[in-house]
Amino acid sequence: MPANNVIAEIKNLHTNFYLREGVARAVAGVNLTLEKGRTLGIVGESGCGKSVTAHSLMQLVPSPGKIEEGEILFYPPGSTTEVIEIHKLEPNSKEMRAIRGNQISMVFQEPMTSMLPVRTVGAQIMEAIILHQQVSKAEARTRAIEILSRVKLPNADRIVDTYPFQLSGGMRQRAVIAMALSCNPNLLIADEPTTALDVTTEAQILDLLRALQQDFDMGIMYITHNLGVIAEIADDVAVMYMGKVVEQTDTSSLFFKPLHPYTQALLRSIPQLDDVMARTGKNKRLETIKGMVPDPYRILPGCVFHPRCPQFMEGICDQIAPEIIEVEPDHIVRCHLYTAPAEAHTAKDARL
Ligand code: SF4
Repeated sequence: MPANNVIAEIKNLHTNFYLREGVARAVAGVNLTLEKGRTLGIVGESGCGKSVTAHSLMQLVPSPGKIEEGEILFYPPGSTTEVIEIHKLEPNSKEMRAIRGNQISMVFQEPMTSMLPVRTVGAQIMEAIILHQQVSKAEARTRAIEILSRVKLPNADRIVDTYPFQLSGGMRQRAVIAMALSCNPNLLIADEPTTALDVTTEAQILDLLRALQQDFDMGIMYITHNLGVIAEIADDVAVMYMGKVVEQTDTSSLFFKPLHPYTQALLRSIPQLDDVMARTGKNKRLETIKGMVPDPYRILPGCVFHPRCPQFMEGICDQIAPEIIEVEPDHIVRCHLYTAPAEAHTAKDARL
């Protein structure tokens, strides 16, 4: 058993999509640990596998996707011996439905797609409470109003009877968060929950999530492509590229000492107001990462980032897949720059 504060572990997860064009390896050997009271940020470009990792954890991988290999372990609170092997559960099984929306909840990017437009906000929150907590309708309504107040929606006793389309975007996202928290989950997965919101509302939602995390002592997996949001909310960060974690550490180490060339490139591509105007006094071009994310059906030899890497080493990076290594305590990276050259060459010689 892991330490007491561990809620879930993902071990060597592989999730593939079987399409006419070929096999898309969306998640290719991911290892993650989620802890009580901490936020793990998952960051990377679109298509890097961050959402599929989260969907795998909830057994919500859409067809024709499939968890092919690996383990997803959930440790229910209050038990030091029980382990639920989520990867072995059928997506629609009674056991999985008892976990999903109850012990593990998810907030999606676009609130209009996670709420039914024809049912009131209250009815949708009450449904989850009645299903998982077996309380009366009156009790569920009281709890729904309580949770709507906790996500700082004004006049919760009125909002409970409104329809999603009657609320603003920010209010709808608060209502979706209320729905996700209605059963006091141990783990909340937030999949780009602020991407569709303006920056002021985004800052309010991030403050709200931080406050709710303290109240509920829950773990959060926060998925985003925005490193600014990661700086605001995450304790630890995993950077993903082509279905793999390429770097993982605590948030301040990632920002102050990024090791992987992909992380360094992501950080260089954040607009810096002082860089643009104050220091130079003239406009400066924003750095971008050259090239495109490769075709997901192709298995690239060597490092998955090598076609775009500014520090590419011919004969090594294009031939040998780097292993993940711990460069500093709790700072892991998947890159040959941190492997002793002799080791990389020995591995290369072994392949020839
Ligand atoms: Fe760049 Fe090579 Fe490191 Fe890959 S292994 S990130 S190609 S230096």
